[in-house]
Amino acid sequence: MKDLRGFMKYDREMPAKRSVEERVQDYRELYRPFPEAKVVEQATRCMDCGVPFCHAGCPLGNLIPDFNEAVQAKDWKLAYELLTSTNNFPEFTGRICPAPCEQACVLGINQSPVAIEQLEKEIIERAFQHGYVVPNPPVFRSGKRVAVVGSGPAGLAAAAQLNQAGHLVTVFERADRAGGLLRYGIPDFKLEKWVLDRRLDILKAEGIVFRLNANIGVNIDANELVKEYDAIVLAGGSTVPRELNQTKGWGLPGIYFAMDYLTQSNRRIAGDRLEHASAINAAGLDVVVIGGGDTGADCVGTANRQGARSVTQIEIMDRPPNSREPDIWPNWPMVLRTSTSHEEGCEREWSILTEEFLPDPHGQLRAIRTSEIKWGTNSLGKSGFVRIENSERELPCQLLLVATGFVSPKYEGMLQQMGIDVNERGNVSTGADTPYQTNSDKVFVAGDMRRGASLVVWAISEGRECARSVDEFLKVDKKESTLATKGELAGLTS
Ligand code: SF4
Repeated sequence: MKDLRGFMKYDREMPAKRSVEERVQDYRELYRPFPEAKVVEQATRCMDCGVPFCHAGCPLGNLIPDFNEAVQAKDWKLAYELLTSTNNFPEFTGRICPAPCEQACVLGINQSPVAIEQLEKEIIERAFQHGYVVPNPPVFRSGKRVAVVGSGPAGLAAAAQLNQAGHLVTVFERADRAGGLLRYGIPDFKLEKWVLDRRLDILKAEGIVFRLNANIGVNIDANELVKEYDAIVLAGGSTVPRELNQTKGWGLPGIYFAMDYLTQSNRRIAGDRLEHASAINAAGLDVVVIGGGDTGADCVGTANRQGARSVTQIEIMDRPPNSREPDIWPNWPMVLRTSTSHEEGCEREWSILTEEFLPDPHGQLRAIRTSEIKWGTNSLGKSGFVRIENSERELPCQLLLVATGFVSPKYEGMLQQMGIDVNERGNVSTGADTPYQTNSDKVFVAGDMRRGASLVVWAISEGRECARSVDEFLKVDKKESTLATKGELAGLTS
């Protein structure tokens, strides 16, 4: 590092955002360009720690102090090579990762952490501008055929790695466009879809084949796939949403799952025409979002752009503290997170239990009845949430968006046809010594289908590690895979 005292000279700084008034008029990216001098300053804040906890915080094991040093020297090519040695898609993580690396950054003990996520974005975007990112097809083909089911971040990462190892990869996607959650789950104001298409074009130019509208277990027999391919990677995500079916009035018209709402919105932005009868639109409505996570925040931002009359986000858990307790570092802290969508207008309430969904005279959702709750001892003497007396009220609501997470992958269809075992949580089971291999020899699994719903960075990590297992399985000579594991890349193993 040229300057090890940068953190004493510069505060953490992020690029300017477009004004709220301007950005709620469209779905384009919020941030303005960040001048190079500012990017270098932010990289200079890195202390090049002897034990870089950021490495361990990142599920990909990104070589963070190394690429920060390259940015400090304005060596964008080296920074790009270091960044992509562990991360196939920094243009995605640089925009939508919650950045567990930053929570683990040593500087975060008593200062704002290094802006690692932003630096990733700056490196990869400059690499594209400078022409460093070009298709790099493998020089050798093994002749082995691999099917990857699902084109979300786990599937794309597995496909990219296996293709680099020389295998012939076909990605099967049930939707009409590739990208999975990156395409239809993340709003354009967080990830414009040209960013995804740009990467897909590179993967295609490298030799990966994409088959769209290919729903394995529905319009393609899963066992045909097993017969035709030398290995299969299941990366279809965790798709069964958590329902609130214990709550009276569940199922009233006006109640939708967040992912159905976001998918429709993303399709509209992509230019698709939707049937009026099935359209979900927040324009002129009082919108309530149940669930305080990132998906809930994406619903808030989308509802504001559609012209909702009011937007309220409620959460059953307590309001988290504004800052973390020092003893939590370097673990992921439970702190209040305010997203750019919240800045655009939203009431946020915590410790709220939804008691009932209330209909209007036509049977449409009109309001929700809620109570405030707190942690305590109930009438049976057991610990748990207890209602606060006289806290009941009605919240006007004609559109309710349920963003309470996902339970598991769907079992019926592909998993059932292939006879794949699942665990008690409904996720795909794998062996203790073969963490990415299912009970069916040639069938492997990565991402949310294996570990449950998680972050995009975990999905990429899973795709990479799974690809390594598949490559070892396919090696005729049983020599070691050419794909490095996260531990090897970090120099942690021989
Ligand atoms: Fe730099 Fe933070 Fe990593 Fe230390 S922990 S090397 S300061 S990014």
